[in-house]
Amino acid sequence: NYRCRSAFKLLEIDDKHSLFRPGLHVIDCGTAPGAWAQVAVERVNAAGSDPDNPIGFVLGVDLLHLSPLEGAIFLPHADITDPGVHREIQNLLPKGKVDVILSDMAPNATGIRELDHQKLIHLCLSLLDLAPCILQPGGVLLCKFWDGKDAHLLRRRLMQDFQEVRTIKPQASRKESAETFFLAKTYRAEANVQLK
Ligand code: SAM
Repeated sequence: NYRCRSAFKLLEIDDKHSLFRPGLHVIDCGTAPGAWAQVAVERVNAAGSDPDNPIGFVLGVDLLHLSPLEGAIFLPHADITDPGVHREIQNLLPKGKVDVILSDMAPNATGIRELDHQKLIHLCLSLLDLAPCILQPGGVLLCKFWDGKDAHLLRRRLMQDFQEVRTIKPQASRKESAETFFLAKTYRAEANVQLK
């Protein structure tokens, strides 16, 4: 039983593009109410339900309150764009780094499509400031955005920092929505060093 239907988008993306495997460490940005975190916990074996496989780790961060989930560590009432929160996150990571950054974040929608689009692109870009501190070279970033005129800025920045960037539109996202995902694979070691 998932906390939200959004789980099916992540399941679909993982089935097709294999983000997860048992033992991986994951941060889920914008985690409330926690459906993506549930999927990540299952697929990286963060609760240790499969004793024959390595145990992973899942950290969920959100502005909102979060109800506990077995196998996940939650950081509620936290803004991912806040440098103080970046330090808190680093302290919570067992290896100091993660293999996968997920973001299903969405700003409070104003209803003005253009403005909402820009706000979300900026939120996604802020993940690229966090990545040098916490993403393992070779790591993966999956982020949701609303398509629009500034999407190319985000794509360009992802192409600089990762070897491979794909645009994904899951079946489970309603066809009429502008909701799209960038999947960036193989985080470059140079991106890690340059910005430190
Ligand atoms: N993936 C979640 C799930 O499956 O349950 C749903 C996420 S929901 C669509 C988007 C979330 O992003 C909201 O809970 C919102 O509070 C969070 N969010 C928006 N801006 C944020 C920020 N700056 N820092 C942390 N979380 C943020």
